[in-house]
Amino acid sequence: MALMPDPIPFSGDPLWRASNERRDPDWVEAHLRSPASRFLPYWKNNPLTTATDAAVGQVPVAANAGDPCELVWLDNGVLHHLAERDRPVLLGLREGVAHFAVDLSPLEEPLAALGLEGAEFTDTRAAAGRLAAGEAGTLAHGRSLIDWHNRHRFCPACSHPTESRDAGSMRKCEACGAEHFPRTDPVVIMVAWHGNRCILGRQKAWAPNFYSALAGFIDQGETIEEAVRREVKEEVGLEVDEVEYRKSQPWPFPSSLMIGCFAHVTGDEEDVDPVELDGARWFTRDQIRAAVADPDPAKHGFGVPGPVAIAHHIIKDWSDQSES
Ligand SMILES: [Zn+2]
Repeated sequence: MALMPDPIPFSGDPLWRASNERRDPDWVEAHLRSPASRFLPYWKNNPLTTATDAAVGQVPVAANAGDPCELVWLDNGVLHHLAERDRPVLLGLREGVAHFAVDLSPLEEPLAALGLEGAEFTDTRAAAGRLAAGEAGTLAHGRSLIDWHNRHRFCPACSHPTESRDAGSMRKCEACGAEHFPRTDPVVIMVAWHGNRCILGRQKAWAPNFYSALAGFIDQGETIEEAVRREVKEEVGLEVDEVEYRKSQPWPFPSSLMIGCFAHVTGDEEDVDPVELDGARWFTRDQIRAAVADPDPAKHGFGVPGPVAIAHHIIKDWSDQSES
């Protein structure tokens, strides 16, 4: 059997989500009480991991380097530290053991409160580059759900408080009966290309000479292909004919699905929108291959995203293709 490649970062969560069992409150309660159950704490949307040399706030967007780390799971003693409003969220089962995510954000000093040593809350992007394949998928799953619960404490239909149900896979408004489910926002991200060159864009907030694939949220009433064509037209003024889907990535900031495509453009005379982009440049396949292999911008005059982001993978895939 052929080996599967490592999953793209933030995918590959190995937990079985137990969509049916979790509707039974007694089943959930039994797992909350079980000494075998495991709880992954988050603090301000970042996960508890074994200590590394890069704590929250010290990691640039493109970084991946660093020591490997692991998620740190606690037993159900952590439940005594939860605020009443913060219910544990069941991520799923593995070998019969329940795995929950819990939010410790109300605690000012969570590590001290729990008496933890050798662990820290690690920036989510940095952790994704350091965790074993699949663990970052669990991390993304929990982060998106914890964040969604924090943002949906009140019913958008009638403004009354909502309550977590089904171990965190929905929230219910008892006042009007509305049920609210976690959402995922689709984003198209594409390598727009013509002949032997592709055009990448940059945003003002990025490091100098840093370029990435064009991207944007899919609008209402729009297909993936239509969103690709609209975004490329809006951002760089080019017409797309062929759209080819390549791969996707969960992106837990807070809860997007990145849909990676190649977009063939009919010409190469761009007209960059200065509101959407700080600039755009054309790069040959050779230039992209060199930058992907060694991301030091000083060597090539430009940098591209590291492997934590799908942009890296679709840009690399395009550069590996022969000209067509
Ligand atoms: Zn309501």
